[in-house]
Amino acid sequence: MLNENNPILKVKNISKVYAEDKNNIVNALNDVNFKIIKGEAFGLVGESGCGKSTLAQIIMNLILADKGEIIYIKDGKEINILSLKGKKMKALRKEIQFIFQDPYSSINPRKKIGWLIKEPLIIHKIGADDAQREKMVDEMLSSVGLDKNYKNRFPSELSGGQRQRVAIAIALILKPKFVICDEAVSALDVSVQAQILNLLRDMQKKMGLTYLFISHNLNVVSYISDRIAVMYLGEIVEMGNSETIFKNPLHPYTKALFSASVNINDEINPVILKGEPPSKAALTKGCVFASRCRYCSEKCLTEKPVLKEMDDNRKIACHLYNEY
Ligand code: SF4
Repeated sequence: MLNENNPILKVKNISKVYAEDKNNIVNALNDVNFKIIKGEAFGLVGESGCGKSTLAQIIMNLILADKGEIIYIKDGKEINILSLKGKKMKALRKEIQFIFQDPYSSINPRKKIGWLIKEPLIIHKIGADDAQREKMVDEMLSSVGLDKNYKNRFPSELSGGQRQRVAIAIALILKPKFVICDEAVSALDVSVQAQILNLLRDMQKKMGLTYLFISHNLNVVSYISDRIAVMYLGEIVEMGNSETIFKNPLHPYTKALFSASVNINDEINPVILKGEPPSKAALTKGCVFASRCRYCSEKCLTEKPVLKEMDDNRKIACHLYNEY
C-alpha cells in the first residue's frame, strides 16, 4: 500500500527556458510540481518535445533548471539534488539510475556484457574483490532473465530486447532506490515491449524500486504506472491515479491522447492529435492547449487554468473543470 505521506522525490516549481536570442525563446518547462511516492511507478506522458526528457535530465542534475528545486528524500532527510556537485552527486547517483530509450546507443558496443554490468561496481568500489563482483553480475543477469554465458558476448550479438535487459542490469546492479525510465521500451518491437515492462514490474517488486516512467505512449505508461501526470508543452495538465485517468480522462488533451487507445497486449498505436503543437515561445498567457482545443473559449485565451484538485483525487488544469 502506497503512503502518500512518504515521498521519495519532490519536483518543486521547476521552470526551464532556452533562449538562443531575444526573438527565439522556448519555455521548455513552466512551473512543474509533483511528488513521487516511495515504491510507486509514476508515469509522465506527453508528445515528443513536451519537456519530459528535459525534466528527467534536470532531476539527474545533468542540466540546470532556471527555477525550482528537486528534493530527494533519503533516510528522512531532504536533499536538494540541484545543489549537489562532485563527490556528493556521484554518491547520490548510486541511488538514482537511468534506463535510456535506445539500448543500441546507451551500451558501449566494444565491451563485453559482463564488463558493462561490472563497471558501475568498480567505479563505486562495491564488492570485496573481483570474484565477488563477478558473482553479483551473474546474479543480476539471472534476475533480468539472461544466462550467465551472456557475459562473454558483445552487444551486437544480442537482440533489442536482450540489450534492454542488459541496460536494466547495468542500471540495477548498484541497487538503486529510484529509477528513471526514459522511453525505456519505445525502441523495441511491440511484441517485446510487454516482456520488458513485465520485467521492470518484477524488478520493482523484488528490489522495492520507485520508478519515474516517461513515455509518449499513454498505454505503455498506464500499463506500469500507479499514478500518471500528463504533460503538454512543459506544463502538467492532468495528474492522478492511473486507473482513474485511464478509465475516464477529463482534460481535452488527455482525451486526445486516448483517442488511439488500445490494450498494451495488442498493437500499440501512436498518439493521434490534429495539428502540430504551437511554438512554446508564444505561450505566455492563457491555456497552453488553447490552439488545439475544441472547447477553447475567450477565457482560455487570456487566463491560465491552474491545477485544481477534483473529488476523485486527480488534479486538472482546465477552465471546464476549474469552474466547479
Ligand atoms: Fe481547452 Fe480551455 Fe480547458 Fe484549455 S482551459 S483545455 S483551452 S477548455
